[in-house]
Amino acid sequence: MLWALRCRECGGRTCEAVCPMYRVTRREFLGPRSRLSLIAEFLGDDDGAKGPDAAELLEAAFTYLHCGACTSQCSARIPIPDVVPSLRALLLRRPFR
Ligand code: SF4
Repeated sequence: MLWALRCRECGGRTCEAVCPMYRVTRREFLGPRSRLSLIAEFLGDDDGAKGPDAAELLEAAFTYLHCGACTSQCSARIPIPDVVPSLRALLLRRPFR
């Protein structure tokens, strides 16, 4: 997944600065960057990873607000509001490792 690579290499983290979920909770895995990282782990895109924490993955998938703030700031132009629903659909079809 090209978007996972682009996100991993992004040094700006401008998305977290505008993410209301991250700003309120201060829980890193609920920020856009970490949500995308969890998805990449779940899809097996992370070399040698044991897989994401199931509780964090579920919370990241089902608490996304779809406000669009992250996308408006993403320098890599990753369509985060499209990626997260795709994860939800996958979670319904594919068991955790
Ligand atoms: S701005 Fe985009 S590429 Fe950068 S960390 Fe956030 S989601 Fe990833």
